[in-house]
Amino acid sequence: DDIGGLDEAKQRLREVVEWPQKCPDLFDQLDIDPPTGILLHGPPGTGKTMLAKAAAYESDRNFISISGPEIFDKHFGESERLVRDLFDAAREAAPSMIFFDEFDSIAGRRGGYSAGSELKDSIVNQLLSELDGMNELGDVVVLGATNRVDMIDPAVRRPGRFGLEIEVPLPDPTGRREIFDVHLQNRSIADDVDLAWLVSMTDEGYTGADIASICQQAAMEALRSTVDAYDSATPQDTPL
Ligand code: ATP
Repeated sequence: DDIGGLDEAKQRLREVVEWPQKCPDLFDQLDIDPPTGILLHGPPGTGKTMLAKAAAYESDRNFISISGPEIFDKHFGESERLVRDLFDAAREAAPSMIFFDEFDSIAGRRGGYSAGSELKDSIVNQLLSELDGMNELGDVVVLGATNRVDMIDPAVRRPGRFGLEIEVPLPDPTGRREIFDVHLQNRSIADDVDLAWLVSMTDEGYTGADIASICQQAAMEALRSTVDAYDSATPQDTPL
């Protein structure tokens, strides 16, 4: 409920993350193997991290999160060990979800010649071997989030690994309206605030993060214009 719009992405995640927890016997009867690896892709600030956290929460999974650069910034051999340890920790904490933010920085195409590409190749290889051992993992799902799905190594994207890709697009007008509602629900709003106008003014590439920031800034403006009055009045009298 804290995520505005993104109905299709939410539904796909429900099906593959929540349903296997909720009705495993139906998955058995129909011989459906839920995907273990899911790639969320879309522009920055569209809600990929929020979606992953919500899916983990709704399916009662422990949430283990790490960003690509955190893995990459290690001494020789440590990155691969960190990937291995993450999967071990997820197995122990099952049911669980591993969330890789900025996934392209660790699962990028192999075979480059730039600085660090040897390390990158070896991290991707480690990741692939962990994913291929997923059958033994049991109740662990792995989500990766990226703004550059084209940069992900094709071997990582194939079925059985990160076989399911869910797009997390820029919000449409209905989505933007819902995102404003989410970020205004606990704030007092002046009578002359026109939400339809705000929705139409934010049509050129505004993300959920941009809308959250607009609401935050508006609240800050309200605070600035009120704080002087607050100093000379009791809190109940403050004209917010
Ligand atoms: P990045 O690709 O940069 O990591 P992201 O897609 O993971 O970004 P989030 O970190 O999930 O984006 O979102 C950033 C913030 O923007 C959230 O904490 C939230 O306040 C707001 N936000 C983004 N999308 C939505 C949404 N659909 N509904 C409500 N709030 C949103």
